[in-house]
Amino acid sequence: MLHLTINSSINLSLMKNRFFFSLLMITIILVTTSSAQSQIIPCATTEYITYLNQQDSGIKNTIEETFFDAKRYSNLKFKKQKDTIYTIQVVFHVLYNNSTENLNKDYILSQLEELNECFRRKNADTTETRDIFLPVAADAGIEFELAKLDPEGNPTTGIIRKPTVLPTFGQFPINLSITDRVKETTYGSPVWDPDRYLNIWICDLSVSGFDALLGYAYPPTNAENWDANSFATKNKQGVVVHYKVVGKENPLLLATGSKTLVHEVGHYLGLRHIWGDGSRFQGCNVDDFMDDTPNSRAASNGCNLGQNTCLNNPGDLPDMIENYMDYSEGECQNMFTEQQVGQMRSNLTLFRSGIATVRYPAPPVQVSEFTAIYPNPVVDNLTVTLAGIDPEADYQIEITNLLGQAVFLSNLEPMPIQIIQGLDALQGMYLCKILKKGEEILTEKMLFQL
Ligand SMILES: [Zn+2]
Repeated sequence: MLHLTINSSINLSLMKNRFFFSLLMITIILVTTSSAQSQIIPCATTEYITYLNQQDSGIKNTIEETFFDAKRYSNLKFKKQKDTIYTIQVVFHVLYNNSTENLNKDYILSQLEELNECFRRKNADTTETRDIFLPVAADAGIEFELAKLDPEGNPTTGIIRKPTVLPTFGQFPINLSITDRVKETTYGSPVWDPDRYLNIWICDLSVSGFDALLGYAYPPTNAENWDANSFATKNKQGVVVHYKVVGKENPLLLATGSKTLVHEVGHYLGLRHIWGDGSRFQGCNVDDFMDDTPNSRAASNGCNLGQNTCLNNPGDLPDMIENYMDYSEGECQNMFTEQQVGQMRSNLTLFRSGIATVRYPAPPVQVSEFTAIYPNPVVDNLTVTLAGIDPEADYQIEITNLLGQAVFLSNLEPMPIQIIQGLDALQGMYLCKILKKGEEILTEKMLFQL
């Protein structure tokens, strides 16, 4: 849920401040347990949950109840609705204290493109997914577009820009009650109806000039696999990202890059980190509730393909550093799994359905193999099938008695199969003919017993 980076050279400057020093000790413990030279530490779950507990202690735990609903929907997605595409309406709130933070529109558009590519598995680097993970790599079938109408129904670009007097929204240690001011009118930009839009705030999240927090998001309230204390009030729903991780071509882009927002939207749709947010000592026993992501002990750093932190059994898979829900560098993140996709789609359906429009797949094109008239004898309906339909041609059905006198003539639709109405008066033997451009293409002698 939180992306936090820390830079050791900055630590030294902070050490001059005694207040920061005591806080820093906690951070150092976290850093040394993952990697001495680490640039990224695991997500600050404890602080986050403590904060949320203070903010939203009244929220009840209804996870068990929704668990089965979500699973049911999840299964449904796999089996029947995989081709359904959801398009999420997005509004970006850009908060800036200087012109650098006021990102130009090109960066926001390329970021949107990154989201779309990654959630449709159309990004070029999907070719980097290792063969062992290809069987579970999945297209989420979720797309994103800038809102065209604001909550009042007025035209909008989907990008709000607001100056702020705050030089940064970041805090060390993390204090989201302060950072969440980005969602309030005084210093930030208030949420657009979170039941209709995905709100994305872009702002400075640095602390004392170093890039600390890269982004955070709240899971859908009551989503399965999350502690009840993980949920936030309605006006906090959405994603916040540091301005240095937005836009593929942003020259300030940090290591996790424009994939950071993909990760955060994953949280927003209810995914957990692939290592399950356990501590380094218990990590292999803490799951992300997905069966198709291998167990891993902790967040990864960099792009270490050889990493395998949990050796469970023979044939054990390495850590899936390709997954967007890891902390690996953006350049080696390139996949969601089938189960993650099912989870996000079920959560979108269950908890955030108002933010997306649904596009159903086109029905399969029906083609008749034969031009035919049946059944014979005709006891109920007369059905016509047309093969190799020429859309430019007129088709007709003509019925004559055995003397060649027409008793029925009707145009046919240029459709593979249709039922002919209005034949109730016919009794006995007739000749049924299919005409194309006035010429017979089929004649059947048929008995009518209507
Ligand atoms: Zn995260």
